[in-house]
Amino acid sequence: MGDTHLSAKAFIKSNLKLALQTGQLSLHYQPQFSLAQETLTGIEALLRWRSKEFGWLNPELVIAVAEQDELIVLLSEWVLRQALTDFAQVQNEVKRLSVNLSVRYLQRRPVVTVVEKYLAESGVSPHCLDLEITETVVLESAPALLNALKQLRQLGISLSMDDFGTGYCGLSYLKKLPLSTVKIDRSFLHDAVSNARDALLYHDILQLARNLDLRIIAEGVENQAQLRFLQLSHCHEAQGYLLAKPMPLSQLLQFTGQQKTSEFLAVAEDIHFL
Ligand code: C2E
Ligand code: MG
Ligand code: MG
Ligand code: MG
Repeated sequence: MGDTHLSAKAFIKSNLKLALQTGQLSLHYQPQFSLAQETLTGIEALLRWRSKEFGWLNPELVIAVAEQDELIVLLSEWVLRQALTDFAQVQNEVKRLSVNLSVRYLQRRPVVTVVEKYLAESGVSPHCLDLEITETVVLESAPALLNALKQLRQLGISLSMDDFGTGYCGLSYLKKLPLSTVKIDRSFLHDAVSNARDALLYHDILQLARNLDLRIIAEGVENQAQLRFLQLSHCHEAQGYLLAKPMPLSQLLQFTGQQKTSEFLAVAEDIHFL
């Protein structure tokens, strides 16, 4: 595995640019649901790259390699633009599009200008766009970065803290950042249904978010016990394999059609990353 990992890294480094230019990358979309209404609320765009050499490449690895240099700019802007273009096709069915944004990208480019441009190009309303950032933003909390986030909010875009609980984001930052949503990392949910103390911890996180007027999305719902736990805990929204796996746009179009007549429905993404 170590060797494969190393050579996959080298492969990504030398092929990402070409892969972007030749249309080898794509986005899959994972639905998010309201727990009270059991309706579709949003979708999250997730990067996918299938290479002849390595099969499906782990998106976290791709992002990490891109973050080492300017490739992260190319990649981030491709993702943003593609996600907005795709979303234009489902915006009558889906209220919100979430796109993951690397903090490294935010540091390198005037993101507000770029986002405004792609919004205009796609005809998607800024009120439909949600940008997910991670807790590394806290380590880089330069005034310029905080300012950029505030400007995005002023445009009507919402901001989510992704994988909440795994990083450095203390209470003071949670207050200081212009967030609308926290996504609680799936590791907490996993533990909450098997251990009473972890269940209490999950409730504390939910309460904390509620006190700060933040919308809460539970990540990684994989079984009925977890879903039940979240419903009883009055968590707002949920995302996970139990409800729906990430899927290509073509499948999402079918999925949103079906959602009108049925409730939670799992659709399989059969991908095994390197
Ligand atoms: P994330 O933003 O936290 O995305 C959620 C990840 O959890 C996705 O993995 C998704 O497929 C997976 N997931 C969803 N439901 C479940 C579940 O019930 N159980 C389990 N075990 N996993 C679930 P994926 O697609 O492999 O992406 C991994 C990470 O890579 C993302 O985590 C995000 O940090 C990063 N990433 C993916 N696409 C992009 C992108 O376009 N830009 C940036 N900057 N990062 C991206
Ligand atoms: Mg995310
Ligand atoms: Mg996450
Ligand atoms: Mg993650």
